[in-house]
Amino acid sequence: MYSIRESTRRESPLQIESQEFRRLGYRLIDRIAEHLQELNTLRVSPGETPSRVREVIDGGRSLPQSGSDVGEILERAQRILFDHSLFNGHPRFWGYITASAAPVGILGELLAAAVNANVGAFRLAPAATEIESQTVRWIAELIGFPKSCGGLLTSGGNVANILCFLAVRARMGGTALRETGLSRPGAPVLRIYTSRETHTWVQKAADITGLGTEAVVWIETDEGLRIRTDLLKSRIQQDQREGLTPMMVVGTAGSVSTGAIDPLGELAAICRQEGLWFHVDGAYGAPAAAVPGVSTDLLALREADSVAVDPHKWLYAPLEAGCVLVRDPRTLPAAFSYHPSYYHFDEETTNYFDQGIQNSRGFRALKVWLALQQAGRQGYAKMIAEEIDLSRELFRSLAFYPELEAFTQGLSIATFRFCPSDLRDGRDEPEVSSYLNDLNREILNRIERSGEAFLSNAVIRESFVLRMCIVNFRTTREDVQRLPDLVLEVGRKADLELRRRLSCRI
Ligand SMILES: *Cc1c(COP(=O)(O)O)cnc(C)c1O
Repeated sequence: MYSIRESTRRESPLQIESQEFRRLGYRLIDRIAEHLQELNTLRVSPGETPSRVREVIDGGRSLPQSGSDVGEILERAQRILFDHSLFNGHPRFWGYITASAAPVGILGELLAAAVNANVGAFRLAPAATEIESQTVRWIAELIGFPKSCGGLLTSGGNVANILCFLAVRARMGGTALRETGLSRPGAPVLRIYTSRETHTWVQKAADITGLGTEAVVWIETDEGLRIRTDLLKSRIQQDQREGLTPMMVVGTAGSVSTGAIDPLGELAAICRQEGLWFHVDGAYGAPAAAVPGVSTDLLALREADSVAVDPHKWLYAPLEAGCVLVRDPRTLPAAFSYHPSYYHFDEETTNYFDQGIQNSRGFRALKVWLALQQAGRQGYAKMIAEEIDLSRELFRSLAFYPELEAFTQGLSIATFRFCPSDLRDGRDEPEVSSYLNDLNREILNRIERSGEAFLSNAVIRESFVLRMCIVNFRTTREDVQRLPDLVLEVGRKADLELRRRLSCRI
């Protein structure tokens, strides 16, 4: 007989009794709810030095030899994190492309950890596997990609893009390339075509796959920082004539710097004509395809062979969650499936270890699945459309401020800079333009230190500009309207001080 009586239970240093677990959990949830409620009254970033933060966490302390009271540890962790963190959920956080996390996603993470599903194999995570499959299909539906696609969740956009790259390499390079690598005599010399605006994942992918970063062919962009399709086409044909093997074209649906969208329909046509794989990096912009009336260039992402989407950006999932979508569901298993003797898994079911490079996998899909249901397609379309509108409003309002110079506006990204009135006419002269770069770099840092808002930057045709990217369902019109005055106030002061320091060379 097999029975474990209460009295024989093993004493574990990590055990928390049920009543205590409840008490600690309720208290934590109370504290999180308070935090979310008071977010807009907090500083966006703490503006503390690394040494100060290290001091707060007692960074020099050695590994504890014996255990401590779990309640006290949790209390301390809350204090540290709520008092010394940057809050990307703050309504005035507009840096990089980092989203406010949906509250339902926070709860989803807790629930996912409680079940601790290993979504590597169906047998280990039946419900979680099916939830992930459904989440992948829903993301496809949201952006207009065929529902019959394959795909899986990843840690983020980089990994999603790199997995697609690996899958394409496996497909275009054939079995020989996979078995003997690139060293085999006569191995194809693969080439990838993309614009300079493409995120750095493409260099990482070329590097770690052994192709080398020189396998990436950079195509010039037009005025709007979109890939030039005429140059692309002639370069592919030239490379074919020279015996190279063009493998894929990477188009971007929303570039990181300016939100530029490549002419995806034209790229799809070129890829069809020339027999290349068409990959779209939609890490930032793909969800905007759900907004009625968006550009046909963006909608053409549905013609791609593969798309990377980033639920931890415009689907507001807490970090981390990226997503791969492939038109042909056989693509991923063809690239990643190996079957050792100790794996006895049913062929009929989805086993995600066969679809990517991870073996054990967490349950990233749950938080995304929950948010997709809470907001629905319409809810997402509304939030994203509002954020695009807010960005456009800010951009238009810049015209009323002679010291603010507008640069670009695309999706929910606006770029601009502070340019003192007396420097306006000479702003293209090398010395002035270099001063303006220094000045705006200083303004960016001062805004961050002020804790009032958080921006990041872009470099557009050698100008260092301030960049505001709204992927934040908490941002209100009032938040946005306060920004120009903040930049003016910080900018005028910084300008005065910098000029004094340079003893008026400018
Ligand atoms: C954010 C982003 C990436 C990288 O995604 P991570 O989630 O940060 O790994 C790649 N491409 C584009 C266009 C992005 O916006």
